[in-house]
Amino acid sequence: MIQGIGASSGIAIGKAFVLPNWEWDLPEQKIDVGDLAREFDRLYEGIRTSKVEIEQMKDELREAVGPEESYIFDAHLAILDDPVFMNEIQGIIQRQYKAAEVAVKEAIDHFVTMFDLLDDEYMKERALDIKDVGNRLLKHLLGAPEITLPSDTQPFILIAKELSPSQLAHLNPNHVLGIATLAGSTISHSSIMARALGVPLVVGIESKLEETIQTGDMLIIDGGLGIVHLHPEQSLIDLYTGKQIMQSEKKQQLKGIINFKPVTQDGKEMELSANISSLKELDVALSSGANGVGLFRTEFLYMDRSRLPREEEQVEVYRRVAEELGSKPLIIRTLDIGGDKHLDYFELPEEDNPFLGYRAIRICLDKTELFKTQLRAILRASHYGSVKIMYPLISSVDEVRAANALLGSCKKELRAEGIPFAEEIEVGIMIELPAAVVIADMLADEVDFFSIGTNDLIQFTLAVDRMNEQISHLYEPFHPSVLRMIQLTVEAAKRKGIHVGVCGEMAGDLKALPIWLALDVDELSMSAHSILPVKERLLALRQQECRSLFNRLLQCRTSAEILALLELKPSEEQKAEAFPDIFKS
Ligand code: PEP
Ligand code: MG
Repeated sequence: MIQGIGASSGIAIGKAFVLPNWEWDLPEQKIDVGDLAREFDRLYEGIRTSKVEIEQMKDELREAVGPEESYIFDAHLAILDDPVFMNEIQGIIQRQYKAAEVAVKEAIDHFVTMFDLLDDEYMKERALDIKDVGNRLLKHLLGAPEITLPSDTQPFILIAKELSPSQLAHLNPNHVLGIATLAGSTISHSSIMARALGVPLVVGIESKLEETIQTGDMLIIDGGLGIVHLHPEQSLIDLYTGKQIMQSEKKQQLKGIINFKPVTQDGKEMELSANISSLKELDVALSSGANGVGLFRTEFLYMDRSRLPREEEQVEVYRRVAEELGSKPLIIRTLDIGGDKHLDYFELPEEDNPFLGYRAIRICLDKTELFKTQLRAILRASHYGSVKIMYPLISSVDEVRAANALLGSCKKELRAEGIPFAEEIEVGIMIELPAAVVIADMLADEVDFFSIGTNDLIQFTLAVDRMNEQISHLYEPFHPSVLRMIQLTVEAAKRKGIHVGVCGEMAGDLKALPIWLALDVDELSMSAHSILPVKERLLALRQQECRSLFNRLLQCRTSAEILALLELKPSEEQKAEAFPDIFKS
């Protein structure tokens, strides 16, 4: 048994597929003069293979979506014939005696940096093309095989060193029974995505591994307990199969409350919404009876591609989500990259503290064209549903005003172009920095709603990097300081009469529910899989009792004391009283 950390609950039983490590290992030594011809041959062979591959992809894309998108590959083919690019590579091989792959890497870096410096969108796109083609060429020179996942008919348990959000975005959840990663944290975006997709995940097993896991090894993943069983005995497989059946029966049972209004015993109604990061997560959200989408993490739309999504492409996605939700609200959060979320084609600076660095609204207020493209797309989609805009990582009134000024100019442009949008679109902000909590009353004057991002708020309040395994025990959602931060925010919103929700992972934590009820929070937005369990508990609770409990929580001086009070569960009688048809016993 390997004890890791449970990051997404559920049980998976199946064979392992071990994802290879995809870091380019470039040769350091110089080549001999006598090897020059061989390096040139390797380079030309790599170019030929890359061209064949690109032609194939072009044909496939043309078949799938028509000729328009496939033209992108013509640009890639042209780069491989471009004399300036090729001369640069050849020059590095010939004059500096470097291996072909090193020359290709240096040429890519040279052109990408040069084009990036130009303040010209077209040239920036060309830089992305060079990077994309260059990486393809590198892959062939290094002989790195494609990542081929096992075929559709054999679902597997994925084992990886670490999984980035964009790698996870590539995976088809129907083929992946479960995941275990050697590193990772429960609050990383990959973990959040795994929960949203309902894929069991255990992270941080590296230090506990006594033997390496090989592709084909039999495994059991227990995402709730954070355990991986390697080569389990048949009796253990039977035991876990039984557990799996029980869990799916419980899920079935919860479906019985899908149409119940989320209201406590004494009449407090709470909106229960879903967090999504892609269209494919919307179905789960709707089938869990979500009130709407309280957080659409749009950055995933920017991943899994080789260039920034154009306005039209974004409109298409936002519009589809808005239309599928109909009159149900959809809160679209503007781009929140940086931290642990990267785009292959968007160079972020190397930073000592990326979570404190160039990210989210800070990038958007710097790269205003990128931001305006998204704002225009959201505005255009607002014509088709009940869309709201939310800015992440706000720390000051200035930032809100700057973002709103850009929103205003997008509105003006659309008006002039005669493109319809919701003139009165609501604008809100994430409250996820202590600075924002402290000036919440001032921020409330600028916006229509708040959504508390507990994931970041906890990390910044406690100064505990949410990705750092070594200090994960210090990441305490129920720390008294976090409780006070939350209280300050909700009370400021209430005083100013604006809507306040919670969209961090704590929103779906059953233990935290009495806190939200006591404070009279309006909305909880969470992974779709948590909606029904949270509703089940909500139906059994009384707001009045939660208020008394909260007063006692405020007296607690440690997380342990707070947790001890919150672990109290509603009695079976309370449950039976709340929904007698389901809990007949
Ligand atoms: C949060 O910080 O709580 C949040 C919801 O945003 P993210 O997890 O995407 O940073
Ligand atoms: Mg956040």
